[in-house]
Amino acid sequence: MDQQIESLRTEATAAINAAKSPQEIEALRVQYLGKKGSVSELRRSIGAFPKEDRPAVGKLITDLLTEVTELIDTRTATIQASAQSAAFEAERIDVTLPGRRVQMGKAHPITQTADRIREIFRGLGFEEVVGPEVETEWHNFDALNTPAHHPARDSHDTFYFTDTTLLRTHTSPVQVRTMLEREPPLRVIVPGRAYRRDADVTHSPMFHQCEGLLVDENVRFSDLKGILAAFAREMFGADTKVRFRPHYFPFTEPSAEVDISCVFCEGEGCRVCKQSGWLEVLGAGAVDPQVFKEVGYDPERYTGFAFGMGIDRIAMLNYRINDIRLLFENDMRFLTQF
Ligand SMILES: [Zn+2]
Repeated sequence: MDQQIESLRTEATAAINAAKSPQEIEALRVQYLGKKGSVSELRRSIGAFPKEDRPAVGKLITDLLTEVTELIDTRTATIQASAQSAAFEAERIDVTLPGRRVQMGKAHPITQTADRIREIFRGLGFEEVVGPEVETEWHNFDALNTPAHHPARDSHDTFYFTDTTLLRTHTSPVQVRTMLEREPPLRVIVPGRAYRRDADVTHSPMFHQCEGLLVDENVRFSDLKGILAAFAREMFGADTKVRFRPHYFPFTEPSAEVDISCVFCEGEGCRVCKQSGWLEVLGAGAVDPQVFKEVGYDPERYTGFAFGMGIDRIAMLNYRINDIRLLFENDMRFLTQF
């Protein structure tokens, strides 16, 4: 019996001291001290001993029980302590490390440029209006005198949702909406996003435009020239020269592309202006009478002009940015330069 107890003690001591997790300890507790455990079995065998030996054997078994219980308790405490210190180590914070700097945001160069454009036209008496970016084909093309076969309507150039709804390809549909809602005189600008299937160093599929529209009695083409020359001088500097080149737009007649003297070389000729000394920044023209008919204005009574510019392009010129994609990467190292 002594031997049996002794070997059980040796076995249990080794097993308990080797246990590494609360689960292992629990399994050992059941194995030795549980109802069907080794020590309990030993205790049940006590009846087999002669009556006079039973107290001595009983004491040996009780001692073993106490010893195994203590071993398990001690081991449990050790395992818990090491688990806790491992957790503390994992959560340790080095208070001597320098903090992470939180970068202050600032207005994006496009926002800054759009704000400047707004400010200039507000000074010239224009009011700002906005409209939806998801448009009907009628507002985006038909009402603006764009014929059914015009290449701009092609799905290679335009993002269509259905046959008749699309992402607006310019901010001009807002002019149509404004004319449908109000009677002349009108003097509005429309800054906003537009979308075309186009992407390279100077084109982004989402871009920013600002349109302008002025409708009244006796509006002349010279008024348009005066307004745009005033804008160019405010935007690009007092010495900026402006030139109008004949062009074609479906919704204006006559139409012109508007160049400013190159802001990089001041007209001398450089790489950006392709040695011409001029940079194209605007499209403009007198509103086509057909557009007035579409919105119910009397083309005999009213005349007007419209113009449009790319805000991204103007931002690129103003801040000397050579790749449009830089504007949309949201890299703070880039954005904080402006
Ligand atoms: Zn130049």
